[in-house]
Amino acid sequence: MTTSTLASLPAVDRLLAEPALAAEAATHGRRIVIEAVRAELAALREAVQAGTALPSAPALTDTLVAAVARRIAHACRPRLRQVFNLSGTVLHTNLGRATLPEEAIAAMVEAARHPCALEYDIDSGGRGDRDELVSGLLSELTGGEAATVVNNNAAAVFLLLNTLAQRKEVIVSRGELVEIGGAFRVPDIMKRAGARLVEIGCTNRTHARDYEDAIGPRTALLMKVHTSNYAIEGFTQSVAQAEIAAIAHARGLPFVEDLGSGTLTGLEAWGLPHEPTPREAIAAGADLVSFSGDKLLGGPQAGILVGRRELIAKIKKNPLKRALRVGKITLAGLEAVLRLYRDPERLPERLETLRLLTRGQADILAQAERLRPALAAALAGWPLTVGVEPMRSQIGSGSLPVDRLPSAGLVCRPHKKGSLPNRLEKALRGLPVPVIGHIADQALWLDLRCLRQADEAGFAAQLGQLAARPR
Ligand SMILES: *Cc1c(COP(=O)(O)O)cnc(C)c1O
Repeated sequence: MTTSTLASLPAVDRLLAEPALAAEAATHGRRIVIEAVRAELAALREAVQAGTALPSAPALTDTLVAAVARRIAHACRPRLRQVFNLSGTVLHTNLGRATLPEEAIAAMVEAARHPCALEYDIDSGGRGDRDELVSGLLSELTGGEAATVVNNNAAAVFLLLNTLAQRKEVIVSRGELVEIGGAFRVPDIMKRAGARLVEIGCTNRTHARDYEDAIGPRTALLMKVHTSNYAIEGFTQSVAQAEIAAIAHARGLPFVEDLGSGTLTGLEAWGLPHEPTPREAIAAGADLVSFSGDKLLGGPQAGILVGRRELIAKIKKNPLKRALRVGKITLAGLEAVLRLYRDPERLPERLETLRLLTRGQADILAQAERLRPALAAALAGWPLTVGVEPMRSQIGSGSLPVDRLPSAGLVCRPHKKGSLPNRLEKALRGLPVPVIGHIADQALWLDLRCLRQADEAGFAAQLGQLAARPR
């Protein structure tokens, strides 16, 4: 290293005057460009001191400008980035769960762009109630008398327990003490809400008399939690909703049900396994049901409570409702999604979640055949074989844990055992739109169920950037 080499690095001001960087400054602001120039020059100085030779002056400037532009692009890209979900789990909590139908997206954009009658009654000019934007639709679709919407289903369960069971007891079957994704455990929510959990029955079996025997002077309600992310099989016994409801009502107590994933329509109509619906729960006697907006329902993140008018009214009076309520963008999206459910026949074409869940295996196989050559070409230097194979998708988000959907996709099988699948997984995550697959049986699996046809070309085009053979 010589000082003359270091001295040949252009000054910050000279670089800022380059037209390409002046254009960057016009887009992103001067401060961001200056930071990137300084960082790039510092990195280059370090490289020179480590013995790297520099190109001659004009080429050096071009290299620097390009590197600075890359730095700026990297620094300014959103942190919440689009990914391709080829994980094989459709409603992937870490990947944002439901992708919304266009109707909802359009409604959310409009709500974001303009003032809107969120809590304003246009007819009277008086104050309105934001829940009323969707409560009519929710009543129509579930049979519940009234409804309210909060941030997510965990909030809905918390709010209902805090309102109806603070300093009182809640009776739940031991087989239903669910943990969902670590942070939501029924017993913990119960404690935080100020309610005392009374566990009844055994993990595998709970009987009607267990509920009856547990009811005492401090009982606030009987609760059923949908065991959405596991199934207890074998020698099992649980009590039907209608029976629990009858036991509760005979003692003047409410029966509430946390459904978790709430589809508003019978999924079996499209060959999917049955998932309990709020309408069924209410028809069976539940006084309140809670469910998520962004699981099978296919809408934005929200927690929905529907049920008896006086219970919903009580819940809405709890000051915590204000802390847990949703904003206009959520309500706009939710309203649009609920409207789609009024026309169930066309739901699989219009509701994105249902479209993904009902995609046929043949369709996905054909897509895999179309994309295989591009991936195989991109990975030509890698010691692995790219094949098209059938596989099974999971619905995810704790819905229908046992049933898996016949799907298809691309499988990258290394020629030898080793860490190649991990390196490939990392390389795929490093693409401009990160591709999220999963590793199983020493291979990398890309389930194509969730790759929209409109995204196919973009997906294939970026694969070229994988070309470098792994070191
Ligand atoms: C998913 C789920 C929850 C939590 O719902 P979020 O919308 O994620 O807050 C609570 N209860 C059950 C049974 C669930 O399946």
